[in-house]
Amino acid sequence: MKDITTIFGSMVFNDVAMQARLPKDVYKALKKTMSHGTHLELDVANAVANAMKEWAIEKGATHFTHWFQPMTGVTAEKHDSFIMPSGDGGAVMDFSGKELVKGEPDASSFPSGGLRCTFEARGYTVWDTTSYAFIKDGTLCIPTAFCSYSGEALDKKTPLLRSMEAVNKQALRILRLFGNKTAQKVVTTVGPEQEYFLIDEQMYLSRPDLMYTGRTLFGAKPSKGQKMEAHYFGSLKPRVSAYMKELDEELWKLGVYAKTKHNETAPAQHELAPIFGTANVACDHNQLTMEMMKVVAVRHGLSCLLHEKPFAGISGSGKHNNWSIITDTGVNLLEAGDTPSQNAQFLLFLTAVIKAVNEYQDSLRASASSAGNDHRLGANEAPPAIISMFLGDELTEILEAIDAGAEYKDKGRFNVEVGVSVLPHFPKDSTDRNRTSPFAFTGNRFEFRMLGSAFSIAGPNIVLNTAVAEVLGQFADELEKANDFKKALAGLIKKTYNENKRIIFNGNNYSDEWATEAKKRGLSNLASAADALPAFVSQKSVSLFAKHNVFSQVEMQSRFEIMMDNYCKTLNIEALTMIEMTKGLIIPAVIEYQNELVLLLERKKNCGVVAENVMEGRLLAKISKLSSSLIKKLDALEKAISDAKTKGDITARGKFYRSGVFAKMNELRVVVDELETLVGKNYWPLPSYGEILTSVI
Ligand code: ADP
Ligand code: MG
Repeated sequence: MKDITTIFGSMVFNDVAMQARLPKDVYKALKKTMSHGTHLELDVANAVANAMKEWAIEKGATHFTHWFQPMTGVTAEKHDSFIMPSGDGGAVMDFSGKELVKGEPDASSFPSGGLRCTFEARGYTVWDTTSYAFIKDGTLCIPTAFCSYSGEALDKKTPLLRSMEAVNKQALRILRLFGNKTAQKVVTTVGPEQEYFLIDEQMYLSRPDLMYTGRTLFGAKPSKGQKMEAHYFGSLKPRVSAYMKELDEELWKLGVYAKTKHNETAPAQHELAPIFGTANVACDHNQLTMEMMKVVAVRHGLSCLLHEKPFAGISGSGKHNNWSIITDTGVNLLEAGDTPSQNAQFLLFLTAVIKAVNEYQDSLRASASSAGNDHRLGANEAPPAIISMFLGDELTEILEAIDAGAEYKDKGRFNVEVGVSVLPHFPKDSTDRNRTSPFAFTGNRFEFRMLGSAFSIAGPNIVLNTAVAEVLGQFADELEKANDFKKALAGLIKKTYNENKRIIFNGNNYSDEWATEAKKRGLSNLASAADALPAFVSQKSVSLFAKHNVFSQVEMQSRFEIMMDNYCKTLNIEALTMIEMTKGLIIPAVIEYQNELVLLLERKKNCGVVAENVMEGRLLAKISKLSSSLIKKLDALEKAISDAKTKGDITARGKFYRSGVFAKMNELRVVVDELETLVGKNYWPLPSYGEILTSVI
């Protein structure tokens, strides 16, 4: 057994490595930049780069890269070797401070939503000093933000950092009002629970749909499915266990605190959760986790599926985004404290989140939208498309009591006059009972459960951070002016809860009654990404992000276009893949099987058997009927795709892809899936759901 403590972070230029390798004054200057964002002087950068290079070479690295997160949703890297001509025909290994801090990738092929014309295609990358450099596959990776030449963000990290700064600024104002003079910085923390599927690589390679689109576009329901629920938390199969062990080890080397692993509800589905960290680092680490999941799978002859819905009718994969706000002195601002003042502060931060989620529910919904996640949200699967918050009975009763100006009766622990009371602690079991809620308070944090498994966590956290920063700012404006702070505070908590409590729902979010009730309450129910994405660029949303310097209007418009375009492209590729598979694989198989039946019937007829009454005859009639339906559905899908091309406006095109193309895809699928149940197994060109889902033993 290897010693985890020596493996952990061995490939990271972390604080231990910095302390060991940097001269004291350089270390101090770098730490100052890391914690306060101060400018990094070139001589300091040079010294850091040199130490980093020495360290990386000792670990076997030959190259370096500015590792960034463009709008593709995956990470990007362009490798440069450390090599430099030595002047005498030889080579030396070199890495300068300038190369560490700034890069200039030719980035014309990354999506920019019209922000960058090709003649000014160069963007630049800047080191995010708050995220450590690391070595991956022989390359020193420098986590960077990626911007256009004129400073517009072209990535997911830049706005995430800006949104964290917005929370920092506003939360500190609130803390000062409570007399806190020690906290210098407030950050948001995230712990993303990552779901994924593991299947045998051979299965993956024999399904063009999985290879091209990440999900199966056809596939009849298996007889067992997940009804038996034998998989959830079940013991790990040997191949899965070996995979998870190696994955843990790879992640630990990269400084990712991989902590929890288990089987999930669907067969072949699993989950990995790390220990939470600062939002931007958690985002980097989640990207690394997803990448490593795929890389390690290949080493084990497996394939890791991160798509939100690889198999219809089987639970899809999400990513629970556990989120909180914490001070640099280690105080979790969403944790009820032991003193009356701490509790009042807790209630203020809590109601700030409630208001933020209620007021910006549409932006949050948009941030959890993609073609892949459309198969989950609003599609009879967890969680629904309607955003609501779960607080648990205890906390709801407390807030209700405050609202009503009444006494909270629970063992006298709480008196409604904020500031003179002691709140009960919220044990996990009293807050975590409701697994159906899209946004649940789980004791000392909120868990936003709408994210898709393939997502970068940046988007949803940018919205959440900025919305909360906005409300904290409003609170600070009001409280800073107040003559009687305690009174103003109590009034503010009461008023905020009262005005925003429509968003609280502690019941079953999957029920039809909830959809009706939510409508009555005026909550949004945006069923698909095509419906939800435009909310990102609503006037309200644009004002919010511009006010807090997270996105300019131009950046938002470009992002919206990228997301909607991505939605259309995804559906387009899926539709084309369906057509290709239907023509190239399904139709030939159906013809061949029918041919067999016809030949057999012919022979039977020659023997004097009446065709209509024999099994082959009835089967042939059924398949033949489905075949004509198949060709009609295929034509309809092809027509829908060409109709989509005529929609010039991106919003209209997105909506048409949903109502026109996607609908036709589903119709074609129904016919093909039925054919799969009728055509002989040896004739069917694709492995079945049953075979795929039980392929790993
Ligand atoms: P469950 O499956 O019950 O939701 P897990 O233990 O699988 O719980 O995941 C909980 C996640 O929440 C972990 O990643 C954990 O580190 C994270 N978490 C705990 N406290 C916080 C916090 N204060 N801020 C952000 N994330 C947190
Ligand atoms: Mg969870």
